[in-house]
Order: sequence, then C-alpha cells, then structure tokens
Amino acid sequence: MSEIHKFLFEGLPVRGVLVRLTDAWREILSRRAANTTHGAYPKPLQNLLGEMTAAAVLMQSNIKFDGALVLQIFGDGPVKLAVVEVQPDFGLRATATLNGTLDDAATLSQMVNVGNEGRCAITLDPQNRQPGQQPYQGVVPLFGDHHEKLEKFSDVLQHYMLQSEQLDTTLVLAANDQVAAGLLIQRLPMQGAGNLAGGSSYAHEDEIGRNEDYKRISLLASTLKREELLTLDADSILHRLFWDENVLRFDPLKGDTGPRFSCTCSRERVSRMLLSLGAQEVDSILQERADVEVGCDFCGQQYRFDAVDAAQIFRQPDQLPPVPGAVH
Ligand SMILES: [Zn+2]
Repeated sequence: MSEIHKFLFEGLPVRGVLVRLTDAWREILSRRAANTTHGAYPKPLQNLLGEMTAAAVLMQSNIKFDGALVLQIFGDGPVKLAVVEVQPDFGLRATATLNGTLDDAATLSQMVNVGNEGRCAITLDPQNRQPGQQPYQGVVPLFGDHHEKLEKFSDVLQHYMLQSEQLDTTLVLAANDQVAAGLLIQRLPMQGAGNLAGGSSYAHEDEIGRNEDYKRISLLASTLKREELLTLDADSILHRLFWDENVLRFDPLKGDTGPRFSCTCSRERVSRMLLSLGAQEVDSILQERADVEVGCDFCGQQYRFDAVDAAQIFRQPDQLPPVPGAVH
C-alpha cells in the first residue's frame, strides 16, 4: 500500500517526510505499458518519472495548500515533458512524452538537458481559483551554481527549495518498476528576532547549535542508499538512520487518506465526447477501422468503442451519467 510518514525531531527545528508509493506507482506504469501507441517507459525515464512522483507527493504533504501541486520537467532532449500532478487529497497521476528511443544507461541530462536548456517547474494551482487569479509557479534550470549540468533530480529540487523558499532541504529519491520512494528532511524557518535580523543568521549561539542539528540529521539522511529506500519499510528506514535521535512520528497516511492513483478520465466521459462528435462522424471512423479508440493524454488509458458500443451511445444518450466538472 502507498504511504506517507511524517515525523519531527523532538526539540529540534527539523522535520521530515518519508513517502513510499507501491500500488499507486504500479497503476501509472501498467496503464502506460498497456497503451498500444506508446508502450512501457524505457527504464531511465520510468525511474525519473518515479522520482518525480515521489518528490511531488513529498512536497504536497509538506505544504499547507488547498490545491493541486504540479511538478514538470520541460526537456530539450528526447524527453520533451514529464509531469506529475498531486491533489490535496493525494490523488495523483503522471505522464511523460518521449521522442525517439533511450539508452538503458541514459543520464538525466541525456534525457532532458542536452543543451542545458531543460527546466523544472513547480506549480501550485488553488482549488477554487478566482477569475483572473494566476496559479503560483516557480521555475529552475537543471544546472548548478556554475552552470554544470545536474545529474540527480534530487539536486535540482534541493536547489529550488533553497532558492524559492530559503529552506535547507535534503532529498533522497529512488524508483524502479515496483516502488517510487523519497525521503525529505527540512530545516524549519527560524522564529522571532533571529529570523528578522536578516544578514547574519549565525548571530546567536542558539542558532549555531540549531544549524548543527540540521546538518547532523541531513548527513544521516544522505547516507540512505537507493536500494534501502526501495526495499525497506518506513520503520526500518527511520530506525536505521535515526536510531540515536528522538523522532516523533505522526500516524501514517495510507489507504483512503494516503497517496493513490487518480485520473479524471472515464469511459462515460469519452462516451459523452463521442456523443458531441455526432453519429455521422463516429460512423465514418468505424467504416475505416474496427473501433473508435480514444486515449487519455494524462494516464495512457485507452477507451475503445466498436460499432455496437457506438450504437448504444447514440440510441440511449440520456442514460449516460453527467460528467462531473465538465466544461461546456
Ligand atoms: Zn486518464
């Protein structure tokens, strides 16, 4: 089952989140693999999209925001777009667009940052957006301080967090064809005078101490190996890393309250679309091929309607349930 585990370090301004996606991640992969147009993701792209999915859930669980969090990479290489959307209730979906083929050993820059023009965007789209209100979007390049190409997606996001939120963040991400997982450790913003003073954040002995606490915990977190993150359960990981710290854990979010696959597409929705297309148009497609096939751009699910299905739609249009949230 897919899970989110939040925790605090007692008395220290440091918090953490551990995410493990299993069923939710496998659903994303199996829909894509079953798609007769695109087929399964090549391994390096699968792993990148998995790391992005784990990271998007980590970020959504770490902010107080009522709206969708969308994490995107706009690539300048064979991978043009990779996108993950996580709703406030942790319903999630993800997809990627690949032109051509990928080597099994393709690196991050070979996929999305060939000419160092690749970008990563994080968008927060409020649930009930007012007319004229723009979603918040932050964009970062896929290179470091000296324009060197970054080869770990976690480094790209750590950069983003430091720049946009001015929060020290340590991220460990990993994915394979079964699990997408991530660990986030973050230093909480300093409170009161120390924070307002600006300039020197090392003004007080106390704050020096606190910074050391974050560094120690961050260092422990960064020893977590990819294999451990993919294979161990949350209890084992947290114990192995932080056995000497006072970790306060919250109830895990799983099942109905946890991360799960969710896409707005459905057979009913596609039926409605065919209905609005008209019987003539649908018939003319069916004269050329055995069925009308409509694929969801976001999850890869394909919906097929043969002549009998189509006739059903046009004979009994009133029996179709209304589409929630449909735009007219
Ligand atoms: Zn879909």
